[in-house]
Amino acid sequence: PPVYHQRYNVISRIFEEKKLHGGCKKIIDFGCAEIALFNYVKNCVGVEEYLAVDIDEELLNRYACRVNPLPFDYIGTGNRCCPFNVQVLCGSVADPDVRLLGADVVVAIELIEHLYPEALEDLPFNIFGVIQPDLAVFTTPNSDFNVLFTNLIGFRHDDHKFEWSRDQFRCWADNLVTRYPNYEVEVGGVGPGPPGTEHLGCSTQIAIFFRKGGRAALDDIKCEEIYKLIRKIEY
Ligand code: SAM
Repeated sequence: PPVYHQRYNVISRIFEEKKLHGGCKKIIDFGCAEIALFNYVKNCVGVEEYLAVDIDEELLNRYACRVNPLPFDYIGTGNRCCPFNVQVLCGSVADPDVRLLGADVVVAIELIEHLYPEALEDLPFNIFGVIQPDLAVFTTPNSDFNVLFTNLIGFRHDDHKFEWSRDQFRCWADNLVTRYPNYEVEVGGVGPGPPGTEHLGCSTQIAIFFRKGGRAALDDIKCEEIYKLIRKIEY
């Protein structure tokens, strides 16, 4: 399957695993773009809340219909035994919003390489300092792999602000767990290349952060509703 499918499959497996270890009720999808992850979340038993967040309002308006219930959701086996609340929100991963609190899992698929330096710098505080999910998953391109794209000039996408090597990504992840010592991280790859290219790693890099203890108190953090609500659906 194409690498983007492989990424969603890996993320779905993480949701399934998470269910076995303490539940996976509330999921945030930062940089949700076309809200494609929704189909994988929707079929994951036990998920009660899904927040799709992106900074691009026009994109969200175009794709928000993807979270609408289908006729199947109202009949027969489509019936849910638990509530399922979906919100599509316009805002930045760098800014805290009160609706993000209490998330079990935060996902950011191919997001960080689209961030300007200031947002990249502010993201860790929002995710690891404020939201403090049980799990946070990030994926990003592996620039070591780019030599295999023979026609590539520059980055894989025009909007990428950087593409990191495995060493650079590992360094970013290690630095975060130094700053937020209640987290540990596993770094890996998704989408291997052809035989003989193993030394370049996979096309996509993935980092999974796990919170080790309970959440720290959020004493003097001001957290309001600052994101713009685009759509809210209660299944
Ligand atoms: N996660 C998507 C998926 O699974 O298909 C792909 C992400 S797309 C490559 C990158 C997205 O990040 C874009 O939709 C862009 O608007 C969004 N983005 C850029 N800066 C952002 C920010 N500061 N906060 C939230 N989203 C942002």
